[in-house]
Amino acid sequence: MKIAVFPGSFDPITKGHVDIVRRALPLFDKIIIAVGTNSQKSGLFPVEQRMKWIKKVFRGNRKIKVDTFQGLTVHYCETVKARYLLRGLRQSSDFDYEKTISQLNNAMSDKIETIFIISRPEYSHISSTIVREIIKGDGKVTDFVPSAILPIKTK
Ligand code: ADP
Repeated sequence: MKIAVFPGSFDPITKGHVDIVRRALPLFDKIIIAVGTNSQKSGLFPVEQRMKWIKKVFRGNRKIKVDTFQGLTVHYCETVKARYLLRGLRQSSDFDYEKTISQLNNAMSDKIETIFIISRPEYSHISSTIVREIIKGDGKVTDFVPSAILPIKTK
């Protein structure tokens, strides 16, 4: 069984994330979208809310599971018996960052391979950071997030 973990903050999930998951689906038997919790940064939306949104977007897809984890991603992968990590690449800055993380993860656990999918051009400018800024500024995020999570309320 080919299990992949797609780790991230997903604060909130964007159309870019959805595209990566959909395109990776034929490669794996199961994809676990795992919301990482970081003790240093709490994020804009509570982890429970982020998970609820992801579940709503992929409702009905039996190959997709949604979970949350703390600590090292490789340890989480071992717990859920995943041998693959899924990540998206938007531009060269993503590559520089991801290269280090991937090499580090592979050094910690040589059973785990990171699989990268390059974003579609129409999604490469989308990031959760930008979506959060638009939300804080009371702007419209319709073009950037999956319609299933709309409307987004901050409180
Ligand atoms: P992190 O905080 O770990 O970077 P994110 O939620 O920002 O988590 O991103 C999770 C993964 O999704 C990362 O691999 C990131 O590169 C990828 N990703 C984010 N936005 C996009 C996008 N617009 N297109 C493709 N991949 C994306």
